[in-house]
Amino acid sequence: MTERQTFPVVGMMCAACSANVEKRLRETEGVTDVAVSLPGRTAMVDYDPEKVTPDDLRREVAAAGYELIIDNDTDVEDIHRQAFVSLRRRTIVSWLFAVAVMVFSMHWIHLGSHLTNNIVCMVLAATSMVLCGRQFYVVAWRQLMHRSANMDTLVALSTGIAFFFSVYLTFTGAEHTWFDSTTMIISFVLTGRLLEERAKNGTASSIRALMGLQPKTAHLVNIDDDSVSEVPIATLQPRDMLEVHLGEAIPVDGMMRSGEAAVDESMITGEPVAVPKQKGDRLLAGTIVRQGSLRMRAQQVGSETVLSGIIRMVQQAQNSKAPVQRTVDKVALVFVPAVLSIALVTFAAWMIVDGDLQHALISAVSVLVIACPCAMGLATPTALMVGIGRAAERGILIKDATALEQLHRVSVLVTDKTGTLTLPNTDITANDNLAFDERETLKPHADEAMQRLRNMGVEVWMTSGDRDDAAAYWAGRAGIGHYRSKVMPQDKEDLVRELQRQGNTVAMVGDGINDTQALAAADVSIAIGRGTDAAMELAQVTLMGDDLRAIPDAIQLSRHTVRTLRENLFWAFIYNIVCIPLAAGVVPSIHITPMWAAAMMAFSSVSVVLNSLRLRWKKV
Ligand SMILES: [Mg+2]
Repeated sequence: MTERQTFPVVGMMCAACSANVEKRLRETEGVTDVAVSLPGRTAMVDYDPEKVTPDDLRREVAAAGYELIIDNDTDVEDIHRQAFVSLRRRTIVSWLFAVAVMVFSMHWIHLGSHLTNNIVCMVLAATSMVLCGRQFYVVAWRQLMHRSANMDTLVALSTGIAFFFSVYLTFTGAEHTWFDSTTMIISFVLTGRLLEERAKNGTASSIRALMGLQPKTAHLVNIDDDSVSEVPIATLQPRDMLEVHLGEAIPVDGMMRSGEAAVDESMITGEPVAVPKQKGDRLLAGTIVRQGSLRMRAQQVGSETVLSGIIRMVQQAQNSKAPVQRTVDKVALVFVPAVLSIALVTFAAWMIVDGDLQHALISAVSVLVIACPCAMGLATPTALMVGIGRAAERGILIKDATALEQLHRVSVLVTDKTGTLTLPNTDITANDNLAFDERETLKPHADEAMQRLRNMGVEVWMTSGDRDDAAAYWAGRAGIGHYRSKVMPQDKEDLVRELQRQGNTVAMVGDGINDTQALAAADVSIAIGRGTDAAMELAQVTLMGDDLRAIPDAIQLSRHTVRTLRENLFWAFIYNIVCIPLAAGVVPSIHITPMWAAAMMAFSSVSVVLNSLRLRWKKV
């Protein structure tokens, strides 16, 4: 028996960090699978509870220098908030020091001699290193003790070398020192991290929006005297009687008992119309009473509600890994050691070429600073978080990164008819003499959805167990060119496989048990949320509502996300490929000082996150 649990992780800063944590957990006995998300700051672990406990996992991660939160009561949000406030304070203070050092090292204020100016710079730089940059050295040391290295190692080394070399220069009477590089690197790295943290919070906002739907309190009705009292929702039990007023959110899943109301379920179904509810109707947590008020009987509470299930699923999807990320992780693990070697080679090469210690050291420092792998670590996960989050807001639940990746390739959509494309008219008993459109109705916007798919270059096939004339009629009504009638579940699967053999990436959309075989065979399986659980269980994509326009939306969104992800990776890698040689001084006319290297490094990681955030406003 394996158990899957998602733990918050504190202290990860770059791709090398998340790769280290993941490696550590993966090598732990009893752990079968791990996915660590840098922007999500989580580790999703599949483990055998008989072989390993969460506390063992926590110890393993602590040994690598990070903190795994296994205690549910710990307020992780609060830890991150405090870390953010402290980071912001250190960033501001570091800039004050950087400017002051600049003023004295450039001799804008002259204190009598080079020596006094340089000594003042030295004291200021040392103070900045202790007050603002302390964490780099602490983490780098801890990493060194575990024989690993991360971005902090690069920062600690580069600022340390620049500082101690400048101390040497100061007391050997040199005019020019590099204390300003030390303080500037600290400031730029901190600023980059601050902006990154800000933007990362933005990418996670859809989860927070979903969580915000859950009210904190509910009105509990005391059956004995009909009195109503306000209680925290954590205390609610199944069978409790609750009262919900106009404008309030339904606190838990349950059944309407009395009252007259219309409920806005758009957050679950994606359809922006208030649905009239009557006694016996099902009510979902997080949906909002737009008209009237009601009393309801609680059925599913806490983590059992549909909304909680959605939040869990979106979180897991956002923290899953795109196939390409596995490669990025491998690169990240060797990246820092590789950069250290390149810096060493740079130093040695310049010592051999011109024998100038200063030139050799400063070029090596520039290499260390410019090559921080943070952009690489953020490239794919930030794009995924925004893409999957946006889909969730639209009522499209995507199970994982692989499904999102597959969606953008879809060239054929196979759709089931009844329950997917049309809704049966339930109040009419089966009767062969009825006209087609008396037995069922086309779902609203179904024809528009099919039209959009065609415009996007996706061919649509309809399959139905219905008679040939009925299938022809509904295919025509929906504007679908290809159809198969009187099919059995096996025929649906055969059609999917046949289309795949022709070289297509096939998506299958269905609602029933008779579709599960074809859903399993398809490259992307799409279930209708109100359909059978069997179909939903299996599907990689679930549409919460009946609006089929969500299908072209999902494909469009996946195309945007995949493009963004590729852009990010391209820029993150090209940046390093171009900048590392430049910093090493390969092109004689281009001289990148450590200070400029720090600015470019901060810019590259921030630009990757901003590019992902653009997805939030992309039209689908
Ligand atoms: Mg069906």
